[in-house]
Amino acid sequence: MTARVLIVDDIPTNVRLLQARLMAEYFEVVTASSGREALEACNTHDIDIVLLDIMMPEMDGFEVCRRLKANSRTHHIPVVMITALDQPSDRVRGLEVGADDFLTKPVDDLQLMARVKSLTRLKSLTDELRARAQTGQQIAIEDALRAMDAVSADGGRLLVIDPDPRHAERVKGYLLTHSVDVITDPAEAIFRVSEGKYELALISMNFPDHDPLRICSQIRNVEVARTLPIILMADEADRPRVVRGLDLGVNDFIMRPIERNELSARVRTQVRRSRYATELRETVNHTMALAVTDELTGLYNRRYFDRHLTLMLDKAQQQERDMAVMIIDMDFFKAVNDTHGHGIGDAVLKEFSARLRRNIRGVDLACRFGGEEFVVLMPDTEYRQAQGVAERVRTAVSEKLFDVGAIRPLIVTVSVGLALNEGDTDTPEMLLKRADVALYRAKREGRNRVVFDAA
Ligand code: GH3
Ligand code: MG
Ligand code: MG
Repeated sequence: MTARVLIVDDIPTNVRLLQARLMAEYFEVVTASSGREALEACNTHDIDIVLLDIMMPEMDGFEVCRRLKANSRTHHIPVVMITALDQPSDRVRGLEVGADDFLTKPVDDLQLMARVKSLTRLKSLTDELRARAQTGQQIAIEDALRAMDAVSADGGRLLVIDPDPRHAERVKGYLLTHSVDVITDPAEAIFRVSEGKYELALISMNFPDHDPLRICSQIRNVEVARTLPIILMADEADRPRVVRGLDLGVNDFIMRPIERNELSARVRTQVRRSRYATELRETVNHTMALAVTDELTGLYNRRYFDRHLTLMLDKAQQQERDMAVMIIDMDFFKAVNDTHGHGIGDAVLKEFSARLRRNIRGVDLACRFGGEEFVVLMPDTEYRQAQGVAERVRTAVSEKLFDVGAIRPLIVTVSVGLALNEGDTDTPEMLLKRADVALYRAKREGRNRVVFDAA
């Protein structure tokens, strides 16, 4: 995995030092010697991570970070602040302006690589989701580009896994704005995370006879916890294993003795990132669903149907199997709108769709073809079965009044045109045309009936 790292420092020696180490690990490096240059670089280059000095003349690192995080074009780029002062207050200030992490000068090689790798891995995941959301529809773009700042980081549902109940309670006491559960037995961890309700796990490295990294990998193997953020609580002596952990996909760590503000800031960062990723994922799924479904009825839309019909017909012809299509049209539907209003008309269409869905088989594909016209594709279905399904749908509509909020329950009926594929010269258009001709006959012959049209 390679990534483009921006190093920002007003002292050239510091820049060169970091640059040499990163390039030795095959990272691509861009440099900036002031806050202004750094902002410029983030806007024009495709930067994957920023290593940012805090003390710089004119614009300090805090201000650079604040501006990066306030700009929707750059807010998703991870920022690691590098400070000479190992002051908790500096860290807290940095995390409050949105910094994703910290390194202390002189920068430790293992920590540097671990942080850069872990944060760029996370970024490539959200980049992919952002790209997919952006290829979707306009509404999705706006959602996806919402600044991460807008995502709440409070009220997180956290699980603390710690063999020492006193230590766990102290940690819990530091996180009063969240809801925290504590367990002391690591064997219980799997069961708890399987519930799928947690947004973050804080795991002590202090287990006398358990490998904490094994707990992490077991959690990662639970489907619903695959992306659950994990923070390790470690002692100085655990450092080599912390680095292993970060390589295994642990998200962050905090050193003991735990400092209240740092813990709370790290927890907020993880909860926010994870909620942001969840939102993006939902946006993408929603966009895909929108592209193929009809909003009013939840049935597939015409676009999806057209593609599917072509595929299914090809398959039926290759395998010399039957396939049936029915077109369903509401009878005198204009009168429903005219008498009761468009809202009631919509409610009838919804209720009809629900009855339709209940009366076809799982393998059948139902779509809203447009307006008050619907179409059902029935693979592997010969004439007699198709006729049976069509009759069942017709009676499911006519035999029970539609109680949808009009002054009285309404009598609703539908007409159905049926057609089967005929040999391998049939095209989707020909098949639909025959069903349509049948439908026309059903209307002419008195409506509320099923008519089959043979080729
Ligand atoms: P027929 O029995 O011959 O099919 O008569 P009809 O009145 O159902 O047919 P027509 O094609 O004349 O009218 C269809 C009506 O369906 C007209 C239109 O206002 C209504 N319609 C189409 N789409 C919607 C919709 O999404 N919501 C509502 N409420 N009405 C719709
Ligand atoms: Mg109609
Ligand atoms: Mg019509």
